[in-house]
Amino acid sequence: MSSGLTVAKQRSMCSRQPTPNHDSAARASAASKSGQTAYFDTVTDYRYMADYDDRVNASGQPTRNEGIYFGRTGVGGFMSTDGNDLNVVNPKTRSDSALAEVFIHEVQHDADQHQSGKNWEDQSGPGRPTSPYVAPRWVYNGYQTEFRAYWMNTEDTQRDNFGFSGNTRVNNRTINAVYANAAGAPQRAGSANTNFRNGRQQGIFSHMFRTEAPGNIYRQGNSWTQSYAYLPHHYVFDENFRAMVDNMALPAAGNLINSVRIQDLSDAMATRNANRVRAAVDELDSMDVNYLNDRSLTQDFWDQARSQMTQATVDYLLARLARG
Ligand SMILES: [Zn+2]
Repeated sequence: MSSGLTVAKQRSMCSRQPTPNHDSAARASAASKSGQTAYFDTVTDYRYMADYDDRVNASGQPTRNEGIYFGRTGVGGFMSTDGNDLNVVNPKTRSDSALAEVFIHEVQHDADQHQSGKNWEDQSGPGRPTSPYVAPRWVYNGYQTEFRAYWMNTEDTQRDNFGFSGNTRVNNRTINAVYANAAGAPQRAGSANTNFRNGRQQGIFSHMFRTEAPGNIYRQGNSWTQSYAYLPHHYVFDENFRAMVDNMALPAAGNLINSVRIQDLSDAMATRNANRVRAAVDELDSMDVNYLNDRSLTQDFWDQARSQMTQATVDYLLARLARG
């Protein structure tokens, strides 16, 4: 744990940080992770007493890091990977609008059904690549769910700090990455130029990749060296992943508005039971209908509808959408 995050742990990066330690900043600094925050406890279930080793070394530094997670400072909340538990960190310290952003962001991670085996999981990339230079499927889904969640943090895309989607003046940049083995010895270096389509896409990418790692090493053996380290690493080394990131200029999704009725409809479609689907269609409200009528932001929903619904059931849905 003290050397970094395992490859598997990075999967739900935004959503894994519990509460900061009392010696959070000093501990992160002693672990050569200045600017990050140490959180406890990654081992104990949150319902029980969390614990960590607060003993210090001869220099007065806390360095015993079993169960400690190092991550981004100022995390607002996190959603469990099964989508059942939404946790908010230090809510008293946040404004109402900042809290609303946390809720929208974290609920979107569940609503977009990107997790392994869920209705709208992206099947790009291998499940278990044997090469460290090939992006696995969870990296595709991980980037896409963050992209959607950040995109939807606020409804007014001109006022948050990610930039405006209508702004096509972007600043592309060169990303450098080095893969090192577990001992830290560089194995391969590479670089790639970004190709953003709009300012909001660029803003979200730059938020997720805002700190260049020492030596540009984002993956060392099987460990990631910082939050969202998979992004610069695979952006440089895997051209298929890079193409997906460059082309994701809008949040193609199935349920960007976090609607429980659209979730129910998706679940009903997965059963292929026409009566259940029609009942779920009947529950849609006008906001659901407005959203599903926008074909540019609902691709995952319509892909599922086309593959799992009969034409008669699709027609029933279309008739509902036509009524507005
Ligand atoms: Zn997130």
